[in-house]
Amino acid sequence: MNLNYAKRMDGIKASEIRELLKLTQRPEVISFAGGLPAPELFPVEAVKDISTEVLDEQGTKALQYGPTEGYEPLREKIANRMNKFGVDVEAKNILVTSGSQQGLDFTGKIFLNKDDVVICESPSYLGALNAFKAYQPKFVEIPTDNDGMRMDELEKVLENTDNVKVIYVIPDFQNPSGRTWSIERRKKLVELANKYNLPIVEDNPYGELRFEGEMPPAIKHFDTEGRVIFLGTFSKTFCPGLRLGWTCADGDVLNKYILVKQGADLQASTISQMQVDKFLEKYDLDEHIEKIKEVYKKRRDLMLKTMKEEFPECVEFTHPEGGLFTWAILPEHINTRDLAKKALEKNVAFVPGGSFFPNGGNENTMRLNYSNMDEERIVIGVKRLAESIKEML
Ligand code: PMP
Repeated sequence: MNLNYAKRMDGIKASEIRELLKLTQRPEVISFAGGLPAPELFPVEAVKDISTEVLDEQGTKALQYGPTEGYEPLREKIANRMNKFGVDVEAKNILVTSGSQQGLDFTGKIFLNKDDVVICESPSYLGALNAFKAYQPKFVEIPTDNDGMRMDELEKVLENTDNVKVIYVIPDFQNPSGRTWSIERRKKLVELANKYNLPIVEDNPYGELRFEGEMPPAIKHFDTEGRVIFLGTFSKTFCPGLRLGWTCADGDVLNKYILVKQGADLQASTISQMQVDKFLEKYDLDEHIEKIKEVYKKRRDLMLKTMKEEFPECVEFTHPEGGLFTWAILPEHINTRDLAKKALEKNVAFVPGGSFFPNGGNENTMRLNYSNMDEERIVIGVKRLAESIKEML
């Protein structure tokens, strides 16, 4: 049917990852494509236990509407957990959202008029780019290296660009590159945002999944003016199916997020919030995170080792100290969209890196996920991928 859709729909396309994920549903496909947690680590028995307890103890409340800001005991617990990121806040600084993805959409709704500029890392998280696209902004990508976004480049752009409205970053085990920002860059970013009076959106789903080294303080830790909006989530440390995340911000800024939350869906699911709250009360989430890290570290080690052994030397890749992804750069003449088709013939999937650059280019890159496949499939998959790369060289 040819309906008269809103102009904003012109820029909204099916996500390449979603399309790929459909193919990867086939059991024979070894998928390094999605950002899916390992399902065998989901605490199913514990969730059964807490669900029964929540319904037994406060069944009618759990099935009722609740406040837009979120379930108060859970907000308090989230505020306490923000200490891990070096952020000292209270429950009043937390809005519970439907995943951190919702916080990204709200960011667009709150800050972006058509043609406003979003500054992001190059590359950046595809899901955020797609969420922002609904508000018809322009993207300015800032080059990155192993220490995160290049501050000299950012400074040049800020000096010379009108209409910048938001700086969006993923400083810990970035999706897609797996890289983590240095502390100096975090401080410098806040300094520049202060100078140009800009909000920083710090998207941090992976920071707690650190396999080695010290966890740096969040960018929000260096925020003295209340301009950093921190987005957190239980998706990668607990389970994504409950769809619970949070926005941590100050005063008026958080109020704007609460206002749009009300318009979007009134509140996050009451029963999901009570379940997570009960889990945090009765079980040890940090102990659970340790188990996740142990498994993912082994998978990362094996993937990187196999890539080192099997990939041609001309392929470079990152060494993430945590999180879910590594990022590979191939010789320039290899287009990873073609490589993805070839690899799929061998039943191996990954995400071509070009999709993570809002202004295009960089078609010789790819994102590989190591959290979702068991060790045997990781080795077989990387070997097959190496064969496909060699065929294209
Ligand atoms: N931000 C980043 C960088 C992500 O990788 C993801 C999930 N893949 C999200 C946000 C959204 O996660 P959720 O909505 O499940 O919290």
